[in-house]
Amino acid sequence: MKLTIVYDNDIYKKNIDLKSDWGFSCLIETEGKTILFDTGANGEILLNNMRLLGIDPYIIDIIVISHEHWDHNGGLKALGLIVDDIELYRLEDKPCGNMNLKNIGMSQKITKGVYTTGKLTGTPKDEQSLILQGKDGWYVLAGCSHSSVEKILNVARTYGDVVGLIGGLHGFNNFHVLNDLKLVCPVHCSKYKKKIHELFPDASINAGVGKIIEI
Ligand SMILES: [Zn+2]
Ligand SMILES: [Zn+2]
Repeated sequence: MKLTIVYDNDIYKKNIDLKSDWGFSCLIETEGKTILFDTGANGEILLNNMRLLGIDPYIIDIIVISHEHWDHNGGLKALGLIVDDIELYRLEDKPCGNMNLKNIGMSQKITKGVYTTGKLTGTPKDEQSLILQGKDGWYVLAGCSHSSVEKILNVARTYGDVVGLIGGLHGFNNFHVLNDLKLVCPVHCSKYKKKIHELFPDASINAGVGKIIEI
């Protein structure tokens, strides 16, 4: 499975005019379906970054919105105008264009190898994260982790051994819960990126727009 970060506060792949902006979006290409997890804050920046990375929006089959904050659902409207026949998984009953809206409650399968934690209570917003079946174990992909990293990992572990965490971690600083992970990739709003890289020099990786992670 291939993950490409298309919207983030930082740039990873320099020199091709990609734009950074406060927000997050990550494309997940599986053997079957292609999923866009979150859409950043601004549709123009999102579509422009995708174009520069050679990603055609028409390859998207499913969009998952982690939570209803502007920096995660802001690009949705622009996508709704150009894509067709898409399943939209979000926590609130808000349709977009002619996307096929699926409301999420409990943890469930989205497509082969991709599951959602379901709606987890969070402050200030409830949130869902994705649980991805990689070659060597399970990976968590999170938007802002408002529902707490601990809670997300606990749900993910009901599927199997969790080996990686990629996502916005906000003010998360309970670092010891990351001890057993082989890959930690703090992005977007993660306040303690530097600290995480210091504490986990082998597991942690830098990311940003243009970063590709194969799992
Ligand atoms: Zn948020
Ligand atoms: Zn955010």
